[in-house]
Amino acid sequence: MTDRQQLLQDIKPLSFDGVNPDKPLVIAGPCSAESESQVLDTAKSLAKNGIKIFRAGIWKPRTKPGGFEGVGIKGLLWLQEVKKETGMLTATEVANHEHVIAALDSGVDILWIGARTSANPFAMQEIADALKGHNDVTVLVKNPVNPDIELWIGAMLRIYNAGVRRIGAIHRGFSTYGKHLFRNEPQWHIPIELHRRIPNLPILCDPSHMGGKRELIGPISQQALDMGFNGLIIESHCNPDCALSDAKQQVTPDSLNLIINTLVLRQTKQ
Ligand code: PEP
Ligand code: MN
Repeated sequence: MTDRQQLLQDIKPLSFDGVNPDKPLVIAGPCSAESESQVLDTAKSLAKNGIKIFRAGIWKPRTKPGGFEGVGIKGLLWLQEVKKETGMLTATEVANHEHVIAALDSGVDILWIGARTSANPFAMQEIADALKGHNDVTVLVKNPVNPDIELWIGAMLRIYNAGVRRIGAIHRGFSTYGKHLFRNEPQWHIPIELHRRIPNLPILCDPSHMGGKRELIGPISQQALDMGFNGLIIESHCNPDCALSDAKQQVTPDSLNLIINTLVLRQTKQ
């Protein structure tokens, strides 16, 4: 069986209890969990605005040393608190075996793999091995930093081969040298090709990391939805200007609500 057929077989649309399957999926929350109050304030405001899935990075892969590298394992307790207080599902980034085990043990619902990790087959295999036996978890795989569709598919195949069937891709754009409008170039033909090759694979767009600035979140999101993307993952922080990572691209929960309310949604079900 070819790689393509394997992935084609039984990847299903992403569905979650309490989340409308006929609307694009929206995952929102801060780039990084910074403190218990920042996490809970942000989550409560997002929940009030109807967001059902909360994201927050607790292990932050930084390009250079010296940046905020995340609060680590104690952030998992804050995510448990979010679940308890708001009923939202939770999502966090994992980059190695230990992260996967700790996140699953603490009850995180959705794991995502970052762009620096999906570019690394050894890290992907380590993560896949840690996922064996946890077939019900949802795993979202961001595109690798470089525009390599085979590496992206290969990363997802490793997760698939570990037995996970709740898999989705996240398109967050690709690194380029120099300053451009986008922080990471969309290169839309790549997710289009991914969809052509694996039509039933859910694909979300991450307009926050793609655009790198607040004002691009709305237009990129609309473009992704117009192209038939299945959902969005957007960074939102209760006090974006003071964020410890990715401050320029984060929006308050209320700004996010405005953005979402102006998007023209299409039915994702055909
Ligand atoms: C993130 O989602 O916070 C993140 C680090 O994104 P990426 O891996 O796309 O750079
Ligand atoms: Mn970020």
